[in-house]
Amino acid sequence: MKKLVEAYSPEDFRKRGHDLIDELANHLENTLQNKNNKTIHWNQPKDEHIFWKEFLNNGDKKNLFNTIIAHSIHVHTPKYIGHQVTPTLPITALSALVSASLNNGMAVYEMGVAASAIERIVTDYLCTKVGFTTASNGILTSGGTLANLTALLTARKAKVATNVWTEGNTNSLGIIVSEEAHYCVDRAARIMGLGDAGIIKIPSTPNFNMNIELLEEYYKKAKDKGIEIFAIVGSAPSTSTGIFDDLEAIATFSKQKNIWFHVDGAHGGAAIFSKTYKYTVKGVEKADSIVIDGHKMMMMPALTTALLFKDGNTSHATFSQKADYLLEESKEEDWYNIAKRTFECTKTMASIHWYTILKTYGEEIFDEYVTTLYDLGQQFAEMVTATPNLEIAIQPASNIVCFRYISPKLSEKETNTLNEKIRQTLLEKEEFYIVQTKLKGKHYLRVTIMNPFTTKAHLQQLLERVLQEVN
Ligand SMILES: *Cc1c(COP(=O)(O)O)cnc(C)c1O
Repeated sequence: MKKLVEAYSPEDFRKRGHDLIDELANHLENTLQNKNNKTIHWNQPKDEHIFWKEFLNNGDKKNLFNTIIAHSIHVHTPKYIGHQVTPTLPITALSALVSASLNNGMAVYEMGVAASAIERIVTDYLCTKVGFTTASNGILTSGGTLANLTALLTARKAKVATNVWTEGNTNSLGIIVSEEAHYCVDRAARIMGLGDAGIIKIPSTPNFNMNIELLEEYYKKAKDKGIEIFAIVGSAPSTSTGIFDDLEAIATFSKQKNIWFHVDGAHGGAAIFSKTYKYTVKGVEKADSIVIDGHKMMMMPALTTALLFKDGNTSHATFSQKADYLLEESKEEDWYNIAKRTFECTKTMASIHWYTILKTYGEEIFDEYVTTLYDLGQQFAEMVTATPNLEIAIQPASNIVCFRYISPKLSEKETNTLNEKIRQTLLEKEEFYIVQTKLKGKHYLRVTIMNPFTTKAHLQQLLERVLQEVN
């Protein structure tokens, strides 16, 4: 017991906690102000693996946390302009500490009394912001990937004539989605047993959104093959380009065909808070379900995702054969036993992040965040366009911008190779972090501006670095 008594010592926790908060506050100051001009610690996976094996044996315990910090990517620097993970609002690092300390499991109401009630308040509130009805409600779950799968399971239960949950797959089922959708939608469909034939991918327009004009034709082709289509997924926006599908048009189509309309708003769903950019998700209120990630455009630590249903009752039938008649029996669904509606059993008290931000800063902070970042996306695109030998893939609709270096002297293949090399060199130089993507065969540099303190000056520097790699 000696070890255990020592490890559970409140005094020890107090001391380590104070030290760690100081360390993290210093880190926050250094990164926000870009003091050491370094965003990522770049190392080959093999060498990093060796480092941490060695540290386990010989590293100084005192240096554990600061070494982890030093070897990690710093999403709070203004030069972190890569993937869509947010620089967490500091107060949510504290709510995460509360969640980790209390470790309420959430699977049944008693195991998360406060956090379950708070989850209901937060998801009801989000439903209102989406423009849903009083019959709407939702849940929080761990990540957009899991939320998209959960939504499609609910869609299948609600729309498919046979009961796949009890009988297994007896008919050929399918969903419709843009070829530009996040890969997790494809994965969810495969997990559900839809196979290649059941994932009807609509080609995108030259503007990278779903080509609505092809919907009828693709739907009919699938029908003729005997596939029962039960859902259509709109991206708001799609991940690679940040371009939005036409949600209004998809809503109309889904209504005509009586299929489920799901909106993957993992990234851009947060625009419901932006007075300026709310129009980007026009039509979202017509969806049957929508996903919004807290850890992307809402400044919360990973993972927390809201999955909202226009008709809240639909989601009670997803995971349970019994729920159908329970509902009939009681009318009042037992909303507080959240695990009945999620894939997860134990989960974190994620609702407290959402509630903490609302209580502390109010919803205006979400507007400020989304609007500032989307504005920066526009400004960056203008800067790229104004720079010789650089071009954007498409006028951005959000804070995601794809661009590349071009020259009349280079073939398409050489252009691709060069842009790939530029991105790799930037990565290894550790100052900026940007990513890359392939669009219709062309290799692009890709930025997502996630930090509201990234300025035009930082972005100008990025462009200079890109050009330096060529000259
Ligand atoms: C990031 C993203 C996902 C995946 O969400 P996770 O929270 O990373 O699991 C799904 N769809 C879109 C459009 C995304 O941008």
